[in-house]
Amino acid sequence: MVKRLLALLALGWAGIALAAPPPPMQDVGAETVDRSKLSQADAAWLDHPNYRWKHLQTEHFVLHHDQKMFAAKVARMGEQFYAAISADLPNLRDRVAPARSHIFIFRDPRDWKTVVASTPGMEPWAASFVSGNVMYLQEVGTAASDKMDMLAHEMTHLVFNRFLPVRLPLWLNEGLAEYYGEFAYRAAKGMGQSKGNAFRPLRTWTPLSELLKATAYPAEPAEVSFFYATSKYLVGYLLLRQPREKWDAFFARLLAGDPAGPALLETYGWADLAAAEKAFAAFVR
Ligand SMILES: [Zn+2]
Repeated sequence: MVKRLLALLALGWAGIALAAPPPPMQDVGAETVDRSKLSQADAAWLDHPNYRWKHLQTEHFVLHHDQKMFAAKVARMGEQFYAAISADLPNLRDRVAPARSHIFIFRDPRDWKTVVASTPGMEPWAASFVSGNVMYLQEVGTAASDKMDMLAHEMTHLVFNRFLPVRLPLWLNEGLAEYYGEFAYRAAKGMGQSKGNAFRPLRTWTPLSELLKATAYPAEPAEVSFFYATSKYLVGYLLLRQPREKWDAFFARLLAGDPAGPALLETYGWADLAAAEKAFAAFVR
């Protein structure tokens, strides 16, 4: 899930030339859309009488849209994000392939409200979300970089759902999505990543004692942004400021089904949460 206008730290991706060759894509008829990965609720959107979906297919995705220009960009960048994110999961395979994930694209804010309101458990601030093997993507904002930010965030959830046999804790799931939301575009372009700029001092953050045990988003809307930012910074700290072997060891333990809290403290050599909090505070300041 992504919160609207979260681009506190956007690097300004607009205007970067596209380097990679475009992935193959083709328009397909409704009758050829593979429905095997759709829930009843997903299928209801596909069959909704108010929508005249067109369908655009790539290697890993089938997009349902009503405007080809944006859909083609989502298809192209979506495949590039898929490649960049899955490259960081070298020991895992895509368990869903060759089946495709679905991406619904909504452009009308009123339609989006209906989507959110009719999805059980969905937070009212959700601007886009992934449920299992399906992405519900809203086209918001005017800047292409904001739209691709959101796509990269949601694509992280979708790729991890395809590759991971376990469910990550909420902070790690959102932290990784925020991390790739910021960096995947540049990675997909094969560009260097100026990651230093992305982690300017953070004035307010969610205490790790709350963050690490959270199984739901904060109830207070003002806290939600802190929750996302802290998650992103913690992932950034672990990936960029700590030895990569530790991340690999930590991730391997999660994949083995170990609880994330103890695995984190033990792998990074923190005696307790207070020690982790102290190290993290030095990073965010
Ligand atoms: Zn998310």
